[in-house]
Amino acid sequence: MTGNEIRQKYLDFFEGKRHKVIPPAPIVPLNDPTTLFTSSGMQQLVPYLKGEPHPMGTRLVDSQPCFRSEDIPEVGDNRHTTFFEMLGNWSLGDYFKKEQLPWFFEFVTQIVGLDPARLYVSVFEGSSAASRDDQSIQIWQELFKTTAPAASNSVGFDPQVKIYTYPAAKNWWSRVGVPEKMPVGEIGGPDSELFYDFGEGLKLHEQSAFKDQSCHINCDCGRFMEVSNSVFMEYVKLEDGSFRPLPAQNVDFGGGLERLAAAASGNPDVFTTDLFTPMIQTLVQVTHASYTSPDHQQAMRIIADHLKGSIFLIDGGVTPGNKTQGYFLRRLLRRVVLKLRSLTNQPLTPTAYRQLVDSVIQTYQPVYFANLKNTQTLTDTIVTESQKFEKTMAQGLRIIHKTPADQITGQFAFDLYQSFGFPLELTEEILAEPGFKVDKAAFKAEFTKHQERSRTASQGLFKSGLADHSDAIVKYHTTTHLLHQALRQVLGSHVQQMGSNITAERLRFDFKHPQKLTDEEKKKIETLINQKIQAYLPVHKTIEAQDQALKSGALAFFREKYPDQVSVYTIGHDVNKDWYSKEICGGPHVTSTGQIGAVKIEKETAVGAGVRRIYVVLAG
Ligand SMILES: [Zn+2]
Ligand SMILES: [Zn+2]
Repeated sequence: MTGNEIRQKYLDFFEGKRHKVIPPAPIVPLNDPTTLFTSSGMQQLVPYLKGEPHPMGTRLVDSQPCFRSEDIPEVGDNRHTTFFEMLGNWSLGDYFKKEQLPWFFEFVTQIVGLDPARLYVSVFEGSSAASRDDQSIQIWQELFKTTAPAASNSVGFDPQVKIYTYPAAKNWWSRVGVPEKMPVGEIGGPDSELFYDFGEGLKLHEQSAFKDQSCHINCDCGRFMEVSNSVFMEYVKLEDGSFRPLPAQNVDFGGGLERLAAAASGNPDVFTTDLFTPMIQTLVQVTHASYTSPDHQQAMRIIADHLKGSIFLIDGGVTPGNKTQGYFLRRLLRRVVLKLRSLTNQPLTPTAYRQLVDSVIQTYQPVYFANLKNTQTLTDTIVTESQKFEKTMAQGLRIIHKTPADQITGQFAFDLYQSFGFPLELTEEILAEPGFKVDKAAFKAEFTKHQERSRTASQGLFKSGLADHSDAIVKYHTTTHLLHQALRQVLGSHVQQMGSNITAERLRFDFKHPQKLTDEEKKKIETLINQKIQAYLPVHKTIEAQDQALKSGALAFFREKYPDQVSVYTIGHDVNKDWYSKEICGGPHVTSTGQIGAVKIEKETAVGAGVRRIYVVLAG
């Protein structure tokens, strides 16, 4: 079964279990300054897992495109990627372990067709704070006992060799880690992972760096692949350090689509699944390299993953730059250029890039890229960025190769970054090639120092995506609604939100408008927002059908896909009439505009043809 088929069958299977299919969140989260990218399916569900009712009900399912920038250095082996899809199903205080585990087992064995003989599971072994997950153990025991091995129809599998228990560090979920670290009132619970065994025949363990140790399900040799995790949000921590069951227990399930597809094919290399093959084949055509050649394979995997990730990021509204999301996109594309150079001495032509882009789009349409009219603009972004780097790369590489080892310091790496645009990590990677005799420890220390310095400005953004919303952020977020409406009122209804970004210090809002704002317009907008703040208008939340909400005049962000039932925030004294602003939104809001205090427009600039950018700060 192919990856594209598995995605659809999974959604169908859980729809059959009365789940509602929800649209995935944008890959760049909207209005969420706590994280740069959507890196898991549960990210958009956090408010609902914490107790807020979800407009679509208590059983939800989706497939979420994710990007994990922290995995950039891991890419190159058979299973790590920065871009991947996470299959997710959720119970919000609805079903629990005795439904979740048998359902997923049924899905992988009956629908995907994985041989139960190759499946293994892990469960929480218990600690002084929380007890062993006996319920999950019992459910898995039943499932394996009643599942007959393929060669026999009389005896089930021995559950003793199928179920492994692990401590909290491996099989416990909470936002802050193990039970002992959790503050009073924090929620958490055990989780249970499923592993697929590719078997002894491939000799993955014997050929790995772990060959001197014995192999086990959590071994990193690649023989066992973790394909999914069922998290059971079961407990709340009490004052005395013990745990009490939550009144409403949640299930948060996440499964790797590419890994399931690899398991279904019996080949542990995710790059040989249908989610990658069209791209790898095109790469072979345009570079004349060979995927099976040990000299080429790693570079081809990096290029395929990074280009695919870049395409999803560009489609999600990211442009290459030196900060935040743009920095990661730039890093991906520059690494692609460097790796391409190891496969072919010629830079790729724009046509070759176009073919690569098309191979990715074709793999994922019509599930994703539904609104993409043509791939030219997307290709142009990649080609422009690549060509810019190709020019300076050769020069930079010459300097690296000419410089005596003892002069290759952290400062040197930083200069390369500034003069030739070599991301620091890229310099580190080049220097890690054999033939460079540098004091790696000293370099690493210098490098880390500079790396931290260069990132200070955006460091708060690298924190967990589950950070709580601070006061300032809630105020700024609510201000975007007032700003959006004020812009439309003063400039006209052609004003449309094109993006926004909030930090604890300011809000940034991009919108469609053909020319620079006059001082008078800015003053009018600022005054209008402050009037609405001083009027202490209440902020109401309602759940409405999407088409009804839009018909009633609610604004929506065009880049986001919304479910059939949506949360609508209305600012004004009456939800039905006489309101000031109405928007489809999932963000955090104040309950009365008066809580915002006062705001000030800081500046207004252009960001592209017909798009303006405005900065607003809290002033009181
Ligand atoms: Zn192993
Ligand atoms: Zn909002």
